[in-house]
Amino acid sequence: MLKIDGSYQEGGGQILRTALALSLVTHTPIRIEKIRAGRKRPGLMRQHLAAVNAAATVGHAAVVGNTLGSQELTFIPGEMTAGEYTFPIGSAGSTTLVLQTVLPALLSAKGWSRLTLEGGTHNTTAPPYDFLEKAFLPLLRRAGAQVSSTLKRAGFYPAGGGRMEVIIEPATSFIPIDLSSRGEIRRRSARAILSRLPRKIAERELAVIERELSWGRDLLTIEEWDSAGPGNVLLLEVESEQLTELFSSFGERGLPAEIVADRAVKEVRRYLAAGVAVGEHLADQLLLPMALMKGGCFSTLPPSRHTLTNIDIIRKFLTVPISVLETDRKTHRIEVEV
Ligand code: ATP
Repeated sequence: MLKIDGSYQEGGGQILRTALALSLVTHTPIRIEKIRAGRKRPGLMRQHLAAVNAAATVGHAAVVGNTLGSQELTFIPGEMTAGEYTFPIGSAGSTTLVLQTVLPALLSAKGWSRLTLEGGTHNTTAPPYDFLEKAFLPLLRRAGAQVSSTLKRAGFYPAGGGRMEVIIEPATSFIPIDLSSRGEIRRRSARAILSRLPRKIAERELAVIERELSWGRDLLTIEEWDSAGPGNVLLLEVESEQLTELFSSFGERGLPAEIVADRAVKEVRRYLAAGVAVGEHLADQLLLPMALMKGGCFSTLPPSRHTLTNIDIIRKFLTVPISVLETDRKTHRIEVEV
């Protein structure tokens, strides 16, 4: 049984998700202690519990400790089974983080799977659905994975009620992903998305993008979506020769639209100024698929704690060498050799 200290690094839910994913792929029984010890409300929150239960379902695992607030978990994977699964995460629990937990295992499973994930599709501290569709999954497909997604309905915090579908087909061979540089920038766009909120909010956000980034009006769009409750997200897309990166910022009650937009502007500026291919969030999310497929390399910003945590957890399960090299103060190169 592999023991994992859940208080390690930032002591959050990432340790749990990555460990569950790797336990399934490598058929390694695990025991995680001090789950999310670094958080104000430690232990398994609803969203984490949903990830544990989804992992247990696809991997026919025996589980002890899968209750709300639990700080210890024993997970003994059984036989991985591809197939049709519906995971209702409840209210606005993040669908994309549950996907992050089960996708690596289903990618390496023998058969075809269709996942229906219900809950939040656009949550503040998780990849928004659009990030999955535009940034993450295209890179997995380039490496040889056969995976596609469809957003059926958006779900914002707190009402949720979103639904997405993911289809995973067995892949036969993989190739390394080389994202040493992003290449020329081909297209930029900003989408201000609203559900059940005044259009003015989106107009104010896009006015900041036009002024601060000098992105012309033809690059800016407002989309009004029908979701179960109110929601607002600003999505900035940068499409380069090698990949698309997507930066997001969420509207919150009481937070001026200009501040929402400023947050996204800061992230995009940092990415553009560094000249790297991969932004902070994509970096931590690419590591596991790279380690399980044929590896690869990417230029990126200084690694976040999520990235360092993922590297350490991967090293506990796999012997794949991962190196992190500082190329200058603002840029790093990460290599995963398979
Ligand atoms: P907690 O312990 O509270 O659950 P956590 O450790 O699970 O927190 P989060 O900060 O919620 O971690 O991040 C989880 C994942 O979501 C990471 O893979 C991170 O890269 C990704 N993520 C967060 N924000 C974004 C974003 N704006 N765009 C893309 N991915 C994001």
